[in-house]
Amino acid sequence: MKLSRLAPVFFIAAGIAVAQSPAPSSNVDSRPAPPAASKSFDLSAIDKSADPCEDFYKYACGNWVKANPIPSDQTRWARSFSVLGERNRYLLWQELDAAAKDPKTPLEKKYGDFFAACMNTDLIEKEGLDPIKPALDRIAALKDTKGLAPLVGGLAQRGDPAPLFRFGVQVDERDASKQIASVSQAGLSLPDREYYISDGKRFQTIRQQYREHITKMFTLAGDTPEDAAKEADAVLTIETALAKASTSRTALRDPENRYHIYTVADFQKLTPDFDFAAYFKDVQVRPFETLNVATPDFFKELNELVSSEPVDAWKSYIRWQTIHASASNLPKAFYDEDFNFFGKTLAGQKEPTPRWKQCTAATDRALGEAVGQDWVKAHFPPKSKASMDQLVAALDKALAADIQTLPWMSDDTKKAAEAKLALYRNKIGYPEKWRDYSAMIVKRDDAIGNMHRDAVFQRNFNLNKLGKPVDEKEWGMTPPTVNAYYNPSMNDINFPAGILQPPFFDPDIDPAVNFGGIGVVIGHEMTHGFDDQGSKYDGRGNLREWQTAEDRKKFVERTDCEVAEYGGFEAAPAHDDVPEAKLNGKLTLGENTADNGGLRIAYMALLDVLAKEGKTIDEKIDGYTEAQRYFLGFAQVWCQNETEQAARQSAMTDPHSPGRWRVNGSVQNFDEFGKAFGCHRGQPMYPENSCRVW
Ligand SMILES: [Zn+2]
Repeated sequence: MKLSRLAPVFFIAAGIAVAQSPAPSSNVDSRPAPPAASKSFDLSAIDKSADPCEDFYKYACGNWVKANPIPSDQTRWARSFSVLGERNRYLLWQELDAAAKDPKTPLEKKYGDFFAACMNTDLIEKEGLDPIKPALDRIAALKDTKGLAPLVGGLAQRGDPAPLFRFGVQVDERDASKQIASVSQAGLSLPDREYYISDGKRFQTIRQQYREHITKMFTLAGDTPEDAAKEADAVLTIETALAKASTSRTALRDPENRYHIYTVADFQKLTPDFDFAAYFKDVQVRPFETLNVATPDFFKELNELVSSEPVDAWKSYIRWQTIHASASNLPKAFYDEDFNFFGKTLAGQKEPTPRWKQCTAATDRALGEAVGQDWVKAHFPPKSKASMDQLVAALDKALAADIQTLPWMSDDTKKAAEAKLALYRNKIGYPEKWRDYSAMIVKRDDAIGNMHRDAVFQRNFNLNKLGKPVDEKEWGMTPPTVNAYYNPSMNDINFPAGILQPPFFDPDIDPAVNFGGIGVVIGHEMTHGFDDQGSKYDGRGNLREWQTAEDRKKFVERTDCEVAEYGGFEAAPAHDDVPEAKLNGKLTLGENTADNGGLRIAYMALLDVLAKEGKTIDEKIDGYTEAQRYFLGFAQVWCQNETEQAARQSAMTDPHSPGRWRVNGSVQNFDEFGKAFGCHRGQPMYPENSCRVW
C-alpha cells in the first residue's frame, strides 16, 4: 500500500506520524478491556458558559475537552475518531487474538500467525539484530558509491527498508486509463524538510536531540560512542541535503509540480552516478520506456550527493535507515530509544503504545483485506450499507443543486462540474472482491521476516499494475479504518465500514445528527473533487482544465480568501522562547474547502429529508432545534485534545486543520449557522464578510 501512495488521495482526517509500527513495551501482558463508545449526540460535552456565536467549538466541545485528557499512549485524543478507532482496534484485536490461539480457516491461520509473531517479544529479544544482519552485512560490504544503486535495489528486493526515494506504479495523471512507473523524493526521518532547514531555536534543539538519538541507536548496535557520533553527523549531512533538495508539501499540492514524464534514458542522464537500470532490475519490474519523475530537482541533487559524499557516509546513512525502520521489531532497548525521540520528544506522547495495539495495527496494515473480511461480517450489517447508499444519494443531489445556484460560476463551467459529479463512483463499506494473499508467506516465529515478505508482496502487487488497466474496484483503506477518502485519479469516494458506526452514523438518532456527522463526511469527500487540487482533474480522473479561464480566476480568488482566513488561525501559542505557530493556509486549503462545502451541502440534504418527512428545521429535541442539533452534531465530531508537540508537528505536516478550526472556520463561513443560533451580524461566528468557494 505504501508504494501505491505516490499519487495523492484526500482523507477526512490524519493522525500523527509517530510510533507507526509495533513496539515492545512493558505492558505486553495486560489484557485489553473493551473501550467505551462515544454518544452520537452528547449534551454533557456542551459548555453552556461559552457563547456559541463567539466560539462555537468551545460551546459544543468545551466540557468534553475539560473532562477528557489525552491518554498517556496517545498524542491526540478526539471524541469521535480516536474513541471509535480504539473500539474498532479492540474488536479487531479480539479477532486476531482468537485466530492466533485457535485458527479455524487458512486465512485465520495466516493473520493469526502474523499477529502472534509480532506479539512474541521474548523471541524478538533473543534474536537481537540477527533478523537484519543480512542487510547490515550488505551495507558493510559497500566498496564505492557505484555500488549504491545495486545496494539499494538489493535491499528493496529482499523487502528490507530501502531508503532515498520511492518507486512504484501509479495512475497516469494525464491519462487515467493507464498505469505508469513513477519515482519521487523520500529518504528523510524527521517529519518534514523544515525540521532540517529551519533556523528557529526549537528546530535547532530538535536537530541536536535527533543527533543524540542516532548516536544512541548506533551505540546500541555495537559501535563505540565516538564512531556512533561521527556516523550520526554523516546521517544528518545526507538527510539535510536531501531535505534541501525536496519540494515542500505545499508546492506538491499542485499536481503540475509533480508530473514530469521522462524517458528512462533521459532520467538516467539526470542521475548518471546512480544506476537506476540496476535498481529497476533488482525490484523486478517489467521493462518500461517512460516514467513520471515527480521531483526532478531532487534526483539531480541526489546525483550530486552520490559523488560528493564519501562511501562511509553513505554506509552510515543506509545503516541508520535500516535500524531506524526496523526499530519496532528489534529488542526493547532499540524500541525504547526510538520511542523516546520520535514519540516522547517529537510528539509529546508519555507512554509507548501497548504492544497489542501496535501489533493489531501492523496486522491490519499487512493483511487488512484478510482480517477485514471477518470483521465486516461481525460489525457491518447489510442495512448499514443500504442506509449509506441513501445518504450518499441525498448528498449527491444536494451538491448538484449547490452547483446550479453558485453565484460566481458561468453556465458552461456549471455544466462541466455537473458532468464531473455524474461520473463520481461511490464505494461503501468494503471491497466487492477481496485481495488474494496466497502469495504472501507468514511465519509464526519471524516478525521481521514477515515485515520483509509483506514489503515484497505489496511491492509486487503494485509493480504488477504497470501497463495494465486501472482496477476501479480496488480500495486504498482497510475495512476497520475510521477514515474516508477521495481519489482524484479514480474520481471515487470511499467510506470504509470502520467509520460507518456511531458517533458518525447512528441508525437510532434523528437525521439532523447523522447529517452533521456522516453527512458532512460524505459532503467533505465529494467536495474534494472540486477543491484546489481535485478541481484540476476531470470526471475521468485526467489532469485537465474544465473551468473557463474567467471562472478559474474567480475560483482562485475565492480559495485565496480561505488561505488568508485559515492562515490567521493559531495552531499553538507562543511561550518562553518558542514563537506562536499558525496554520498553513495553503497546505490546509483543500481540506478546509472540503469542510466548508461538506457542511453546506449536508445541510441542504437535511432540509430536503426533513421536508419529505413533513418536518421543519425548527422542531426541537432536548431543547435544541434540528438546525442547532445539526451544527452540534458536526462540531462534536471534532472535539479533541492534542499535545503541544503534536499540534506543532501537525501544523507543518497535516493538510487537515485541527478540530477547533475545522468547526469555527466552517461555521463562520456559513450564514445558516448564525441564523440557527440567533447570532448578531458581526459576531465572530457570523461575520460581515466570509469566504465561500462551493
Ligand atoms: Zn479530506
